[in-house]
Parts: sequence; structure tokens; C-alpha cells
Amino acid sequence: MPRLIVAPFLDDRLVLNPGSGSGLKIPPLKYAELQHLTTHGGTVPAWLSAVVEQQWSLDLAGRTLTDVVLVRKESPYGYVRASYEINKGCDYDCPHCYLGQKKFEGITARQKLRLLEIMRDAGVVWLQITGGEPLIDRHFPLVYQRAQELGMMVAVSSNGSQLHKPAILDLLARHRPYRLTLSVYGATADTYDGFTRNRGAFDRFTRGLAAAQAIGLPVRLNIIVGEHNAHEIEDMKALADRHGFPHQVYTNMSPTIDGGAEPLPSQAEDYLRKRSPFTGCNAGHTFFHADPFAKVSICKVGRDPQIDLMTEGIEGLRRLGGIADSLQLRTGGCSGCQLSGTCWTCRPLAKLYQEAKAPRKTYCQHPDER
Ligand code: SF4
Ligand code: SF4
Repeated sequence: MPRLIVAPFLDDRLVLNPGSGSGLKIPPLKYAELQHLTTHGGTVPAWLSAVVEQQWSLDLAGRTLTDVVLVRKESPYGYVRASYEINKGCDYDCPHCYLGQKKFEGITARQKLRLLEIMRDAGVVWLQITGGEPLIDRHFPLVYQRAQELGMMVAVSSNGSQLHKPAILDLLARHRPYRLTLSVYGATADTYDGFTRNRGAFDRFTRGLAAAQAIGLPVRLNIIVGEHNAHEIEDMKALADRHGFPHQVYTNMSPTIDGGAEPLPSQAEDYLRKRSPFTGCNAGHTFFHADPFAKVSICKVGRDPQIDLMTEGIEGLRRLGGIADSLQLRTGGCSGCQLSGTCWTCRPLAKLYQEAKAPRKTYCQHPDER
């Protein structure tokens, strides 16, 4: 496993320390020097050992460069971030879940490794492994470690149900993610277990949280607020503060990825937040989303059309930018809208709300038709 990753990132060249949130920019000439040393052999240059000593207290002086530093190649594809939904299966049954049918299925272990190599060749530096619940996938340890070996900064998004288990803690401690994002569904067993429809879930979650704190994992908490648990919002924030973990609060639920309205009634009306106007995003241009079958879309929301990376290979990614541009056009239920300049809902998300026949006030500036 590399101690450091050196990677192109858009117009920059970065030195990254897996497991740390910080990085360093280096000039193109220094990057070229490291590429040369990777190919022709040599030790860690003095300038690099000096900066990493200062930044991360890492002593790499005199070490053979390829033993400790992985220098990523430039990619002609230009993708720097990806999310990978390793499976859609989950051990919880939350009412707000945007996945709809959460089937536990996907590609083989061998295909998963191939997918990671395609991501590496596409330029992906930051990879989010998500689900469903990723930590219950039997291939998770393989995928997680391989992504790091390939020089990716790996974040994991989880419900935390498995975090109390020694094998998972050991894996995350040995190969630290740069971020571990955990959802919070309540501050008491009654509420948390009721929200997730899983008895004992709060106990497992809090044991996992304490274990993660004890070994200093870089946890960030997403506090999910719905009708069922809104009364504990302040207690959930206090839970995060007690552990010293940063947190964000989420109140607005999305329709399912198939345009189903099922999650919407679980929203706590009084807590819904007005979003800022949508000013564009790089979905499909610098990042993409891969589902459990390695079908790639511009993001988790705009899933249609998809590109099958297992049949098309990396070349399929060349079509993604065009797909992204077409998905952002204000067509369908947003055609001709005079308010699109101040709309806070991107077109792929608006399409899902429209398919779900959601009340307009939840996503749109126009009043509902009578
Ligand atoms: S949901 Fe919308 S804003 Fe978010 S990444 Fe997808 S297209 Fe962009
Ligand atoms: S305001 Fe409503 S109709 Fe107009 S672009 Fe936004 S979601 Fe579509």
C-alpha cells in the first residue's frame, strides 16, 4: 500500500496521504521528476521528503521512491471523482431511502477489480464507496484495499451497523479512509431502531461510533431528519458533538431513483430547507457514478441513460459528457420554464420529482395546478 499518492487532479498535481484529508500541490516539473524516478529508479527526492515531513511527520528520506510513493499517470479521460454503489442491499429498512428496491446483487469480484482499474485509468483520485450498505458486501474488503493500492483516496459512506466488528475496524485502522461518513437516524434506541426498522441497531451504531472515535477514524456524521425522528434533532447534534465528529443535517428527501414517491411522506415538513439556486455541476464531466453492475451514469440521481463499463470498457466513458449535457437541458416537465435561472433543482432531480408526482412546493417555484 503506498504511503503517498502523487496524482494529476484537473489542472493541478497533488501529493496525497491516504487517510488524511489534506494534500499538497506540486508544480508540473516536480511531477515530471517523480514520474521519471518511478520509471528509472531512485530515492525520494530531498524536496519531497522535506515537505511530507513537515506536513504529515512522515520520514521518507533515503527510501526508494517506488516503495513508498505511487505516482499516478495522466489520464486522457479527465475524471477525478467517482462514486461506486457496490451493492444496493442494506440491513436497514429506512422510510426515506432513495434506492427503492434494495436488491443485493451485482458483478463478480473479478469484475469489481476490473471496474476499479477502469476507474484508475479514467483518472479517478477520489472514490466514494457506497451502497446500500457497503460494509455488508462480502467483497468490500477486497474492493476497498484494491482501490487504495491503485492510488485512490477512498471514502466510505455507511450506516455504521458493522463498525463495531473487529474485522471491519481492523481493516479501516490499517488502511485509513480519508473520510468515513455515517448516517444518524436517532439519538435513542426507540427512535433509531424505529426509523431503521431494525431492533438493536442503535446499540450497534453507538458501539461502532465509540470504536471509531477510539482509533481516530475520520468520521463525519450525516444527521437524517424525518417525521419519525425530528424531535431528536438537537440530541443527534449533541451525540455528534460528544464524539467530536463534524456533522451535517439533511431534511429534504428525494424520490427514489426510479421516480417513486415512497420516501417523500417521511419528510418532516417543518424542517424542510430551501435550497440555493442550481448553478451547474460537473456530473458526467469530472465525476461519475457506477451502480452494482458497473453501469455508469453522470451521478446517483441522473441514472438514465447508463453506460455498461463491463461490455463497453473505458471507451464508453467518452459518451458520458454528451449525456450529461443533454440531461441538464430543461426539457420535459421543465420545458420553457421562465424561472429556470433561479431554480434550485437540477433537471435530473426535477425529473424524478415530476415522475413521482411530488407536490411542486418540494422542488419547484411554480404553484401546484388545481
Ligand atoms: S443530482 Fe443534479 S446537481 Fe447533483 S450531481 Fe446530479 S445532476 Fe448534478
Ligand atoms: S422552477 Fe420548476 S418547472 Fe422551472 S425549471 Fe425548476 S423545477 Fe422545472
